Amino acid sequence: MSSTSATNRRSFLARGAALAAVPAVATLVGGALAEPAFADTVPAADTLPDYAPIPPSALGPAVNAQGYYVGRVQIASANGVSNKVTHIVYSHHHADHLGASSLFGGDVVRVGHVETKRLLARDNDPTRPVPDLTFATHRTLRVGGERIELAWHGTNHTPDNIYVHFPDHDTLMLVDVNLPGWVPFANFNISEDVPGTIAVPGKALAYPWKHFIGGHMGRLGTRDDMIVYQQYVTDIIDNVKKALVTVDPTPFFTKYGNNVWAAVKTYQDAQVNYAAAPVIQKYTGVLAAADVYTASTAFIILESIRLDLGIGSQVHP
Ligand SMILES: [Zn+2]
Repeated sequence: MSSTSATNRRSFLARGAALAAVPAVATLVGGALAEPAFADTVPAADTLPDYAPIPPSALGPAVNAQGYYVGRVQIASANGVSNKVTHIVYSHHHADHLGASSLFGGDVVRVGHVETKRLLARDNDPTRPVPDLTFATHRTLRVGGERIELAWHGTNHTPDNIYVHFPDHDTLMLVDVNLPGWVPFANFNISEDVPGTIAVPGKALAYPWKHFIGGHMGRLGTRDDMIVYQQYVTDIIDNVKKALVTVDPTPFFTKYGNNVWAAVKTYQDAQVNYAAAPVIQKYTGVLAAADVYTASTAFIILESIRLDLGIGSQVHP
């Protein structure tokens, strides 16, 4: 990427610069979307749906003029210790968290869960070298006078997602489950194990901490944020269970006959809307984008309740 387009991308990522960045985005995606055959598939901005304003409390501190670029790491030197990076802890194997690991070369110790090592060996991505040091359940790191407690408490977002606890800083890091101030990204943050993800807030709250690092959206969390998130998920579960016993499948199967997928899709859309509507109403103004992604998460939770818990599912002998 040229320095000009890199700057444009940073401008786009910088909060508040979205409007100014629209020409830059058009340039970045350029050719493909400009092809006449695809022109009709790209909606005009003024035809896109409107969503509720996000609560200001969902936003983290403003980024600097260059977007997310923060320059040299100076926090450590300000605290009187070296700012040389000696260890990289992998939260889980996903590229949006480890994709720059290779920039640190061979002179750092990479630490991760055994499953992270297995998954990275599978993915074979040169930007994500496999961890040098692995653990299965717990590992204490002592680096630069700091103590870091790593733990694996079961699968959730991915099979290898770990808890990173900084006991001397009252801080817990767990990535891609609770993004403080926001509802989860699509499909319950692309949860690979829904019951495991539902169990996360209870496990996280069992640790002593005041500050929470969720991995996206730019804001640190508090214990209250974790409790709100836990309640949000509980409310979706409760409403999905109601939808499973309330929404009548008859009209969908009457209309679509032997096109079973059409009947199932429209029936489940109705169940999801039934479950999501009261949750969206309750959390609009509380968690950002409740009206954007609650239905997506409700669908994944509905499937888990049917398939993992066996509630509302026909029994196939
Ligand atoms: Zn992830």
